[in-house]
Amino acid sequence: MIDKPGDTWSFVAAREPAVFPAAEVHGVPGVQHAADAGRTLCGIRGRYLTFYLHHFEPQYLASCHTCRGLAEAAPTRPCAQERLHDRLQADAPDSPLREDLLTALRRGARIAIWITAPAAGLTRHYARLDQLTEGAGPAAAALAAGGPSITLARVEDAGRGGAAHRYLVVLPFDGPPRIARGPLPPQDPSGPTVLPAAPAR
Ligand SMILES: [Zn+2]
Repeated sequence: MIDKPGDTWSFVAAREPAVFPAAEVHGVPGVQHAADAGRTLCGIRGRYLTFYLHHFEPQYLASCHTCRGLAEAAPTRPCAQERLHDRLQADAPDSPLREDLLTALRRGARIAIWITAPAAGLTRHYARLDQLTEGAGPAAAALAAGGPSITLARVEDAGRGGAAHRYLVVLPFDGPPRIARGPLPPQDPSGPTVLPAAPAR
C-alpha cells in the first residue's frame, strides 16, 4: 500500500530491474539470450538472431550464462512515476496543477493507465473528460488534435488526508503535455495498469 503518511516510498527505492527482449541464435534452439540494440549482450549480431516479444529471463535454466550475468549487472531503470515526473518537469508548462501532480508522483501516486494509441479511442474509453473539474478544456483540445497517436496517462492520488484527485495527462508528440484533474471517486474500478515504455520524446 503506497501513498499513506509515514510511508518510505521514493523514486530510489522504486527503481526497476533492467529488462531485455529475449533472442535466440539461428541453429541453436532453446538457448535464450538478452537482446539490446540489435545484438545480444554477449555479442552476437542481429542477422543470426530471432527476436522475441517476451523478456529475457535471467533465471531460466537455458539462458545464456554471459547474458545472464550482464543482464543482472545492468543498471536499474526509473519507475513509471519517476519517468512521468521527469517528462512533466521538463516539458509541461509551469502551473499549480503541475506542481500538485509532481508532488503526488514523488510520493508514489498510482499510475492507473499510461498508454499510446489513436486519440479517438483514448478519448472515448480512458479520458473521462466529463469527470474533470480543472484544466479540462486544454486537455480535451490536445486530445482532439491528437490524431492517430497520442499518449495519455491517468494518475490516482489518494491525497494523504487532503483531497483525493484523479489526474489526466495528455502527452502529444508535437506539443507540451496538458494536465487536468477531477475528484477521485471512492473505490473506483480503474481497470488494469497499462505501462508501455514511455515514448521516445
Ligand atoms: Zn548470450
